[in-house]
Amino acid sequence: MKTLIKNGLLIDPADKIEAKLNLVIENGKITLVTEEEPEADEVIDAEGMVVAPGFIDIHMHEDPVVDGKIEPCIFNTMAKMGVTTVLAGNCGECLYHPTKYLDLVDRDGAPVNVAMLAGHIWFREHAGATDKYAKITPEQTKIMKREIAEALRDGAMGVSFGVRYAPGTTQEEVEDVAELCVEGDRMIAAHIRDDAAMVCPSAVEFLDVAKKFGLSAEVSHIGSMAGFGQMTEFLQLVDRYRANGLRVLCDCYPYYAFSTQIGETTYDEGFLERYQTDYSSIEMCEGKYKGQRCTKEIFDEMRRDFPDALTVCYVMKKEDVDLAFSDSGVMLASDGVLNCGQGHPRAAGAFPRLIAGFVRQGTLSLYEAVNKMTAMPAEKMGLADKGRLSVGADADIVIFDPETIADRATFEEPTLPPVGIRRVMIGGKTAVLDGELLDGTLGRSVRKTGK
Ligand SMILES: [Zn+2]
Repeated sequence: MKTLIKNGLLIDPADKIEAKLNLVIENGKITLVTEEEPEADEVIDAEGMVVAPGFIDIHMHEDPVVDGKIEPCIFNTMAKMGVTTVLAGNCGECLYHPTKYLDLVDRDGAPVNVAMLAGHIWFREHAGATDKYAKITPEQTKIMKREIAEALRDGAMGVSFGVRYAPGTTQEEVEDVAELCVEGDRMIAAHIRDDAAMVCPSAVEFLDVAKKFGLSAEVSHIGSMAGFGQMTEFLQLVDRYRANGLRVLCDCYPYYAFSTQIGETTYDEGFLERYQTDYSSIEMCEGKYKGQRCTKEIFDEMRRDFPDALTVCYVMKKEDVDLAFSDSGVMLASDGVLNCGQGHPRAAGAFPRLIAGFVRQGTLSLYEAVNKMTAMPAEKMGLADKGRLSVGADADIVIFDPETIADRATFEEPTLPPVGIRRVMIGGKTAVLDGELLDGTLGRSVRKTGK
């Protein structure tokens, strides 16, 4: 089967291409990029559209496994917003053993290609260190390291840390685990220890570990870490590490509110002072107060009785988040989490929103936006055949209208699909057409192999 995509504007920042060119796809790969119109079995007319590599979401949170099967929810919203490959297992958290999860993806297929990080906290707890405020024991460390090393051998991309969520983690423990990533040059990513006024020392703690072992590093969702007046200083700090040879990028989502469970350490004593806010900045996404802003009474009740309830917290400064996207070391990632379809709209809107909210408002070029969504994450993950559309690349493609593409998901309806995305292809086959998921099984595992 030979497919021709013609008349579109090809944007492929990995190969420095922005031109009207036609693509030929055979056996799941790009086999020709041309101005000609060769014969094909299937012809897709992309007149007026942008043809880009399928978006790569380098920081998101996977769907759960129920009765031995992955129950797709966020993977569906990902595919519908043009994402073809995700990196899950972030913030130190996994919902299941990460490489056994990849085995399930390969057995049943998934709506998107899935890569996993080995979540440090998941393995920490698995080794018996269940108290997130306590130090891990030497015996537990041994078990944890052995199991993480095994997951890396089985194809995990690297390790994610969520020091914020397991404050008992010392810098020494982060080093112990990070060192496992030296073999095979795997990446480390972190939701760092603290945010707001403490964001810079927390970044130093993490980046010093990456520097010590020469590892490629990623600082996660910086809008919700340094988005309270610290972004300028924070980006300068990261630049300083980069100038000294560290391979470091950050990711950010294009919203001014974050989302987490009400029982999380984020809301431990002192958070109101830290964010200089009051309880009304927190909105409940689940339970009997769904859609309501908190009072002290609602907050205390929910945190005590329903700690897993998702919340949205409206506290980030617009100028800080916007500044992050103007920085060439910052990628777009959704940090999406959906709990039974509830959560933050970034899970279904982050990618189109960057184009609607930044490119069409004139603050970012379309080329740079596509770069942040494709080439940068592919390079960070070490994917040679994804995030690009030159000959030999995987035919993971998104075709969208640059004039109309927009997110529609809201805090009230967080899974509403975007508009303006004509077609999403995985391995040369159509997964999504005009907002409708045609085939939710085209995705495969993406594993890091070799030394
Ligand atoms: Zn996080």
